Amino acid sequence: MSDERGSSRSVVERARTVIPGGAQTGLRAQAYDLGEIAFSGATGTTLETVEGETFTDYHLAFGPVVLGHGHPEVDDAVTETIDEGVLYGAATTPLEVEVAERVVDLLPSAERVNFCNSGTEATYHAIRLARAYTGNDRVIKFEGCYHGWHDYVDVGVYPPKERIGEKHPESAGMLPEAVEHTEVLPFNDPDAVEAALEEFDDVAAVICEPIPHSVGCLLPEEGFLASLREATAENGVPLIFDEVITGFRHSAHGIQDEFGVTPDLTTLAKAMGNGYPVAAVCGREELMAQAGGDNTSGVVISGTYSGHPVGLAAARETLRLLDEESVVEEISALGERYREGLEGLFAEHGIEGRVVGYGSVFAPQFGVTGEPRRYEDVLRLDEATFEEFARRMRERGQFFTPNPYKRQHLSWAHGEAELEGYLAAADEVLGSMM
Ligand code: PLP
Repeated sequence: MSDERGSSRSVVERARTVIPGGAQTGLRAQAYDLGEIAFSGATGTTLETVEGETFTDYHLAFGPVVLGHGHPEVDDAVTETIDEGVLYGAATTPLEVEVAERVVDLLPSAERVNFCNSGTEATYHAIRLARAYTGNDRVIKFEGCYHGWHDYVDVGVYPPKERIGEKHPESAGMLPEAVEHTEVLPFNDPDAVEAALEEFDDVAAVICEPIPHSVGCLLPEEGFLASLREATAENGVPLIFDEVITGFRHSAHGIQDEFGVTPDLTTLAKAMGNGYPVAAVCGREELMAQAGGDNTSGVVISGTYSGHPVGLAAARETLRLLDEESVVEEISALGERYREGLEGLFAEHGIEGRVVGYGSVFAPQFGVTGEPRRYEDVLRLDEATFEEFARRMRERGQFFTPNPYKRQHLSWAHGEAELEGYLAAADEVLGSMM
């Protein structure tokens, strides 16, 4: 086994000589905190390493894989599409019209849709549309909400304790003016939103994750999202729901439908393509129409690969299944059982902690109790214990990121066998940890 383990190690060693940090992103490199690992296959719920070791996957690539890895209908749709042609880059295609029609049918806020390839592009486009519409510059966002890596929103996402409440840039190299034009408010605080809208007369948009899953799961308090809708409408400020995680995973009609609050613009990605790169910005006709003019006077939304047939073929099948089958109901019910099972084990083994989540998303958090409502409620958790939990779960074939602020996901491929396997492993690990 040690020789075989060497091959993951050797891939990672080679990666470190040609890829900064040895992985495409810093968050991906965190998997190495538990030892070098390199993957070469994924089917259903299973991840396979280069040496053939298998894990049940709860990471699901940060969430997109909502139907399971390699879902045959999605993959067949992609193969059939590329057999016809890969990229056209002019005019339109029946495929993109069909997927746009599906999004308009499904999402309450969607009157018009533009496709792109990542959630970051989608939030960038949404903010540009809102700025052009209002003629204003300032963006209001919430602490703990991640909207991608561009300069307008990568502020106040995961600030350290001593920087809470500040405009904390998450990266070096960000434009100070962009950071300056971003206000960071506490989630679940309608008074702070009202006060900011009163203080600043140059607000272009309020953007939020309706459920901030970027820090596990902060549930919006009763009336908070409605209060955002009311306050933004009163001030003529577009409200953007970033449904990159919640969209289609928690409801085929978006969490906006479930929560009964319709934003002006919505951003979508992850679950809409079951792992293929596809994303969208959609919303009210009046706002979206700005992108339909010529590129000298209107809002420029551009991209060589935007509306790529590979992503859209995957989206057509994924959205069809999410709409026509009971995927969301089934994965959400299973999520409830993972949460209940873990809570039972925490109680049985006297572990101080909580299990947060919603629908098919769950996150065990150690050293903290009560319902987290704001970013600082998450920040107090016990990182070392989570890392130990992740390590020992990984030794028992259960894979998720050791980042204690992240979450675990379920797909349509997960079922009783995975639930039993996970809870049996967690029972052993939690029973011997404290
Ligand atoms: N918005 C949210 C809520 C996200 O969780 C993410 C990514 O995790 C993004 C935007 C950025 O999406 P992408 O990584 O596709 O650029």
